[in-house]
Order: sequence, then structure tokens, then C-alpha cells
Amino acid sequence: AEDPKRRVLKDVFGFDDFRPGQADVMDALLAGRHVLAVMPTGAGKSLCYQVPALVLGGLTIVVSPLVALMQDQVAALRLAGVAADTINSSLDREANVAAWRRVAAGQTRLLYLAPERLMTERMLDALARLDVSLIAVDEAHCISQWGPAFRREYEDLSRLRGIFPNVPIIALTATADEGTRTDIEARLFAERVETLVLGFDRPNIKLGIAAKQDSKRQLLSFVERHPGRSGIVYCLSRKKTEEMAAFLEKNGITALAYHAGMSKDAREANQNAFMTLSGVVMVATIAFGMGIDKPDVAYVFHTDLPGSLEAYYQEIGRAGRDGRSAEAHMLFGLGDIRMRRLFIDDEDAPVEHKRRSHGRLDTLIGYCETAQCRRQVLLGYFGEEAQPCGNCDTCLDQAPRADGGAEARIILAA
Ligand code: ADP
Ligand code: MG
Ligand code: ZN
Repeated sequence: AEDPKRRVLKDVFGFDDFRPGQADVMDALLAGRHVLAVMPTGAGKSLCYQVPALVLGGLTIVVSPLVALMQDQVAALRLAGVAADTINSSLDREANVAAWRRVAAGQTRLLYLAPERLMTERMLDALARLDVSLIAVDEAHCISQWGPAFRREYEDLSRLRGIFPNVPIIALTATADEGTRTDIEARLFAERVETLVLGFDRPNIKLGIAAKQDSKRQLLSFVERHPGRSGIVYCLSRKKTEEMAAFLEKNGITALAYHAGMSKDAREANQNAFMTLSGVVMVATIAFGMGIDKPDVAYVFHTDLPGSLEAYYQEIGRAGRDGRSAEAHMLFGLGDIRMRRLFIDDEDAPVEHKRRSHGRLDTLIGYCETAQCRRQVLLGYFGEEAQPCGNCDTCLDQAPRADGGAEARIILAA
């Protein structure tokens, strides 16, 4: 059967694909969990609760700090045919009464309110009698005195979890610093919250690429620099996952293999070990990863070139979901390019498809060989502009040295 959230995305909002992170946030909410979603501006935070609101039915309450923002969102939703309302101080009494009638009659799917209006006893009593499915707190950093825009009215929202104990709450913000985040968690959720730091930019993941020489040795020394941490190592072939895992084990590292050629039981056992124990290195083909949501993965290491920049982005995105510093490291050699070209040529696919696949591979190679900030190139591919990040190998290499290293890179990459 078709995924209901994907159907809503397409039928109501007219989009074919989720942006990075959106599906994860929605799945967590639809499973009834509380979520703190940290995503950059423009990443598409609104859809993260609008789509679940429509999938769940009933009433979704959206708390938003500015009347102008609420009006825009309600107008946009109505254009898309969604029953949205707002009750706020800029509307006359008649309009507010009409809106409340629709809400009380169960016609409204999303109701936008400022925090001070929501948190009146009359409003809370009335809402508690309705079928509330979801509560979204937008610009949630306003609840934190650490944050850049503290608003006293937001403090009162900490009562929500007690008033609606069975309703999932999502808090959304683009402010990713840790103090603000833990403050939001403490105030809105107590401890029952899943925090997802998502979006195109994952600034806590350090990006790096090295020339492939002796991949076993290179992997081992990388893993040894992250003692006791969980990590994922991606290899192109099934055989290589087993060889690499065995090599790590021989060197005193807890490593497991995962690929589609293993028995279902063996795969599940290894996946469970990875999920429940800490400090396990999973050496896997791309068969591993879908739906894996382990927040404390410290690194993703590619021993071989992935299939595309999208695939790479998705794979490295499994690191550092807890917001702590994490690392994505890839080994890159000419042999990998040859291998990938062969894969494409051998595919039983129309010429046009192969041409596009070669084009995607060229984009990925461009990323590997760039002398520019890698994050800039990666984000640029997703249409996002960025400043040099200071947390990738090209940024770090170029920073303090005046020995012509950066220049040599540019010449060599040309
Ligand atoms: P944020 O609140 O994170 O800053 P918004 O929710 O305002 O971002 O969304 C920014 C823009 O991205 C909006 O124009 C929205 O329609 C668009 N958008 C969101 N999700 C998608 C998607 N999956 N596909 C295409 N466009 C999207
Ligand atoms: Mg927003
Ligand atoms: Zn950079």
C-alpha cells in the first residue's frame, strides 16, 4: 500500500519527494513520539507537522509567535485546499467566532494560535474537549532564555504536556546550539523526546576524503581514532564487508558485517547488536541503513565511492543525529570511478538513463576532487548557499598554511 504521508505530500502539497529529514520527523510523530526537530531555515519545517496533521485527522494545534506568520501559513494552506484557521488579535470578533465554530464542529484540521491565546484557561478547557491529534510549537527556541528570541509567553507552554498527556508534541527550530536545545527539551518535554537535528546542512558532521591507498589500514587507523564509539563502514561488495569486519575484529575492534547475502537471522542479530550495544562498528553494504535511527553514530566511513551525491548525503546523514560532533570519511581512488562506470554501462537500462547516471557520477567526482569547501559543494547541489564551513578537510587544509598546499590542490584537481 502507498505510504499515506507520501500521498498527502503529493496530492495536497504537490511535491514528489521529501526534503532531507522531513520523512524521519513525520514517522516519529505518526508513531506517537514527541519530537524536537532542529532544521535550518528554508528546510521545510512546516510540512513536518502539516502532513501528519492531515494523515492523523482530528485537530492539530499550531503555536506560532507572530500574527503575520500565522496569517501567511493559513492562507497558503487554504490555497492548497486544507481546512486551516487562526484565532488572533488582528481579526475582528466576528471572524474569530466563526473560526471557533469551525474548530468546535470538527471541521478544522490546523488551528494556529499565539501562545498567550492558547494558554488561557477557557481556550484550554474548550480544546481539551475536542479531538486533538497533534501539537506543534513553531520557533520553539522562543521558550529558552538561552535562545536568541526569548518570549515570556512561551514559558507557559511547558504546561502543555500535562494538559494533553497523550498528544504528541513537535517543537521546531532552526537554532541548533546545544544550550538552547537542552533547554527546549527540559521545558516542553521533560525527558520523553526524540531530538532530530536535520536538514540539508549537518554542521556537526566533519567531511573528509582521502586518496585510497591501503583501505584496510586506513580504516583501522580511522576507527582507532574513535575508540568505544559506534560507527558505520560502507563497502561496495558483500565479500569486502566480511573481510573488513574480520580484519577489524582481529585488531581488537568489535565489528560486525551486514549485507543482503546473509541469512535473515544473522542480519537481524547483527543489527540488534549495533542498535543496543555501544561501540559496535557495522561494516555493511548499502543494504544497511534504511530506517536505522541510532542517534549516537559517531562516524560513517566509505571504503568505496558511493553511487551518487544523493546516496552519499543520505548515508553520511546516519552519523551525528544526536547533534554531537561526528565524522564522514571517504576513501577515493581512480579504480572506484572505473568500477562505477562499468556498473552503469552494464546496467540493462535505456541509453538516456545511463547518460543521466554518468552525469550523477560526474557530480560526485566533482565533489571528491573539489578544492572548494566540501559543504558548500554538497549544499549547493541541493540548492542551498553556504559560507565555507571550517569543518571539512578542504577548509581545514587551507586555513593556516602558506606552503602552497591549497594552490597545489587546485592545480592538481583541475
Ligand atoms: P522553514 O520553516 O524550515 O524555514 P518552510 O516550512 O517555510 O521552511 O518551507 C520553506 C519552503 O520549502 C516552502 O516554500 C515550502 O513550500 C518548501 N518545501 C518544503 N518541503 C518541500 C518539499 N518536500 N519539496 C519541495 N518544496 C518543499
Ligand atoms: Mg518556519
Ligand atoms: Zn568546508
